[in-house]
Amino acid sequence: DNTILKVNNLQTHFTSDSGVVKAVDGVSFKVAKGETLGIVGESGSGKSVTSLSIMGLLKDTSGKIAGGEIFYEGKDLTKANENQMRKIRGNDIAMIFQEPMTSLNPVYKIGRQLEEAIILHLKFSKKQARKRAIEMLTAVGISRPEKIVHEYPHQLSGGMRQRVMISMAMACGPKVLIADEPTTALDVTIQAQILDLMRNLTKLSNTAILLITHDLGVVAEMCDRVVVMYAGRAVEESDVHSIFKNPKHPYTQGLLESIPKIGVRVERLQSIPGNVPIPSNMPEGCKFAPRCKFAMDICWEEEPEFKEVSFQHFSKCWLNEEVSQNAKKFVGSTQ
Ligand code: SF4
Ligand code: MG
Repeated sequence: DNTILKVNNLQTHFTSDSGVVKAVDGVSFKVAKGETLGIVGESGSGKSVTSLSIMGLLKDTSGKIAGGEIFYEGKDLTKANENQMRKIRGNDIAMIFQEPMTSLNPVYKIGRQLEEAIILHLKFSKKQARKRAIEMLTAVGISRPEKIVHEYPHQLSGGMRQRVMISMAMACGPKVLIADEPTTALDVTIQAQILDLMRNLTKLSNTAILLITHDLGVVAEMCDRVVVMYAGRAVEESDVHSIFKNPKHPYTQGLLESIPKIGVRVERLQSIPGNVPIPSNMPEGCKFAPRCKFAMDICWEEEPEFKEVSFQHFSKCWLNEEVSQNAKKFVGSTQ
């Protein structure tokens, strides 16, 4: 089995004044070694909470894993303690975020931050670490690394900061890189460069990527497979080609219709009217029913299952069910 990361029926709940919010409610997927899996959805879909759950970074929030398992190389991370998780975050699973300013320390020079990461993970001497830091900055395409090591994060551009973050994340040779909207804050040209960089570096080391994004353009460019999330659930999963060519779930179809034209920036997905349901007002059946133009009676009453609708292509929609029912009837009538 080539699986490096397996999330099984993950449930992540937050407690608030108005009760329990099920931010992630039964999400499952697998990532193979060296594979790039995209998780796509609007904000509020639970995609970032999924990544924080995997990294064991919920402790500063009111969030808690309420059920399910997260297997990394066969070990269940939901049962790991903070010490074990810290080791895993340093050596096995690394993460980069949308805004590197939040993960770089503003009061330390770039060189020092990189060296500390290297010394911590690779047990290098200070001198070796400086040399390695320069090599790493060169590897992420920073042209004057000897100068950059003496600068503070705020002295760098957004693109440069993200390059530094990537070099830090890759420093320990992680087997999985979780990237949460890594290029969302960058302009289009820099975005393409950063994606290229991530692709090349991870290919060299056969690192798997879990790429969290709201941007299907990024998915098309980077991913092998994709999971579409809506209201804390996975609603569709397949290889990238099939998702674009033959989306099965009405939500995915809506997302595809809303891909912006090249060079046009949109803040919201316009072509799906309505919003992600708020937790206190979750529909009974399919969570997408209030926005779905195909909603039927059953959709309001009962939630469809996440089912394989064609080879390795999964969808959570009554329409697919009906299609397969009809197909069964058809097959039956010809026998
Ligand atoms: Fe639309 Fe019904 Fe499918 Fe939900 S189950 S996406 S409401 S057709
Ligand atoms: Mg997010």
